[in-house]
Amino acid sequence: MPVLTLKSLKKMILFKKTADLHRWLDQQKASGKAIGFVPTMGALHEGHISLINISKTTCPFTVCSIFVNPTQFNDPKDFQKYPITLEKDIILLEKAGTDVLFLPEVAEMYPDGTNNLEKYDLGRLETILEGKFRPGHFQGVCQVMRRLLQLVQPDDLFMGSKDYQQCMVVQRLIQLMSWPIHLHRCPIVREPDGLAMSSRNLRLSPDERQRATAIYRALKDLPNAQKILTDAQFKIDYIETADAETLEPSPPKKGAVALIAAFQGEIRLIDNMILA
Ligand code: AMP
Repeated sequence: MPVLTLKSLKKMILFKKTADLHRWLDQQKASGKAIGFVPTMGALHEGHISLINISKTTCPFTVCSIFVNPTQFNDPKDFQKYPITLEKDIILLEKAGTDVLFLPEVAEMYPDGTNNLEKYDLGRLETILEGKFRPGHFQGVCQVMRRLLQLVQPDDLFMGSKDYQQCMVVQRLIQLMSWPIHLHRCPIVREPDGLAMSSRNLRLSPDERQRATAIYRALKDLPNAQKILTDAQFKIDYIETADAETLEPSPPKKGAVALIAAFQGEIRLIDNMILA
């Protein structure tokens, strides 16, 4: 693929340095216009772009970041193999009308390195579901989100409810820091066959990709979820139903959330659904 030069960017501005982004943000904020922010790890798909679209209908300026945050990967292999499709991402973001893309290096986000970073009090959220199966993951999410949010200081933050517990963790971070940021939890975008869009889907083999639809079928047929998943060769981390506001365990009932995490081959997929 040809290298995308800055000249190929028509309207979107690309910043790699925090100081440059900071300067641009200061100018926009002086005009009093609200900033919407969509943080991502790249390998973008329609799910990510839906967040950009929602931000654009809410805020005059939309900033997106692409940063594969090393501190949130509890499995080093998952970090090394995380898909990168930067040229395609830039084209998608520009087409969607994103105003700014922030594309920092690790040293820009963590100038003092990634060892001995600060810790956050996430309470019970850190011991259940994703917190239980991915130790340290949510500390990493908070470490990068604190840095990104402190820099961008958005009025509105747009995140996907596909990462249901992550939204709750980031809401908690916003409360801990007393920031006046409105977190919008946006709907899950799915493939036509129901599979929730995810950057990790790119790593599925064609057979695994076909079997992966079992997660959606399992969410819609909870009494048979375990069988549906094992028949499709999934290795299950959890199938749980919980209160949609608190994530306290709950029987499967209207308004509760059902959450699944399971491995298809090497790839760990998560999904959830509010029960009708
Ligand atoms: P990621 O790049 O995986 O860190 O995701 C960046 C943001 O996109 C997060 O807020 C995700 O929850 C959101 N996201 C990922 N997949 C989807 C999807 N299928 N539908 C809606 N939002 C999504």
